[in-house]
Amino acid sequence: MDFAVSSAQDTLISEAGGFAGRLAAQFGGDPPMTRDVWKFWGAEGWLGVCVPREYGGRGEDLLSAVLAFEAMGRAGVARSQLFAVGAHLFGCCMALVRHGAEAQRSEWLPRLARGEAIGALAFSEPAGGSDLASCETRLESSEEGYRLNGRKSLVTNGALADLFVMLARMPSAPAPLNVSTLLLGRDSPGLTIDPLEATEGLRHSNQAELAMLGCPVAQADLLGHPGGGMGILLSVMQCERSCILAGFLGALERDLVAVTAHLTERGASGHQAVLHRLATIRTRLETARWLMYRAAWGADRGEKPLLHASMSKLTVSTTLVECTKELAELAAGEAWKGRFGLGRALADAIGTLSASGTSHVQLNTIGALLERE
Ligand SMILES: Cc1cc2nc3c(=O)[nH]c(=O)nc-3n(C[C@H](O)[C@H](O)[C@H](O)COP(=O)(O)OP(=O)(O)OC[C@H]3O[C@@H](n4cnc5c(N)ncnc54)[C@H](O)[C@@H]3O)c2cc1C
Repeated sequence: MDFAVSSAQDTLISEAGGFAGRLAAQFGGDPPMTRDVWKFWGAEGWLGVCVPREYGGRGEDLLSAVLAFEAMGRAGVARSQLFAVGAHLFGCCMALVRHGAEAQRSEWLPRLARGEAIGALAFSEPAGGSDLASCETRLESSEEGYRLNGRKSLVTNGALADLFVMLARMPSAPAPLNVSTLLLGRDSPGLTIDPLEATEGLRHSNQAELAMLGCPVAQADLLGHPGGGMGILLSVMQCERSCILAGFLGALERDLVAVTAHLTERGASGHQAVLHRLATIRTRLETARWLMYRAAWGADRGEKPLLHASMSKLTVSTTLVECTKELAELAAGEAWKGRFGLGRALADAIGTLSASGTSHVQLNTIGALLERE
């Protein structure tokens, strides 16, 4: 095992830090994710960092992308931006990279990498996001191809997205070959997008609910083969669960450093109990980080989804919530006055408990794989 960061990764990490500075100088600390902000991310090469070069990306692997996003979080890029970009890149773009037909990749990936098009994953439904296999959105054969009817909920980037990677059930086929993945464009007839105006956290991630009423879907819009949706879902979840929270761990490290400096300045870190609490946060952060690297490394090597991805997602999201709460207690009155932005960080972290599947869904996955071992 080699735990060393390569010199190419080292360069990428410093480029990511430099980008964070330019982003803040251009748009401020936590701007709404407008199309101009997306294009800035694209022009600097981050929207396609792990998209192959022939489709306009930088051709890095997932582990290198994770290191770069972590560095951005450490350098102060807002969590809602990191989350929105993560859904676009590790969700939508990676679905195309891994499963798109040549025509689909060359039509969409260069635009997605430049930020001229924004991508989203639309899997969850109002009746429940945990059991995706029994989704109610229906894809039924029609004379020209298919018609799509149903609803999707909590779609990150949904309010702005130009492309949705969507899951739908084909009622005529037998389970488990009755779930398909498809590409739906924003201008599809019959698609209604209803932005969610206020969420508890991650407030610039432009979430939306979608309604599809008889949207036409051509055979060429299917991602992978008809009925292959569950395999694609697992593969996409492997990328998303392994990578999307990298920037959040970087941001947690930044918060830990700031609170430690504050406590040192007040002399509070001289209390052993305080020091132990800081040391525990540091250790939890490090544990989550290595599990995340392990998951991304495995995804790069074509490891089967989803054991390490689910362990990583579970560990990272719970670490974010529990350590942010602990930092707020440690910073006490200064946290309450808003000096470290920990209230906002906690609200954002709570969103990560459910995104890409709740903690209990991760445990279901890990448990099921354990049974097969
Ligand atoms: C910040 C954020 C971003 C998101 N972005 C997207 C996105 O881009 N695209 C998308 O498609 N979805 C997205 N989601 C939706 C997310 O995937 C769902 O919230 C999640 O899958 C849970 O679904 P649900 O909210 O409907 O809860 P439910 O499925 O109704 O679950 C309710 C509770 O029951 C538990 N539960 C349900 N079934 C089981 C089971 N079998 N075993 C054990 N416990 C169970 C759950 O753990 C949960 O505590 C996002 C959510 C959040 C919070």
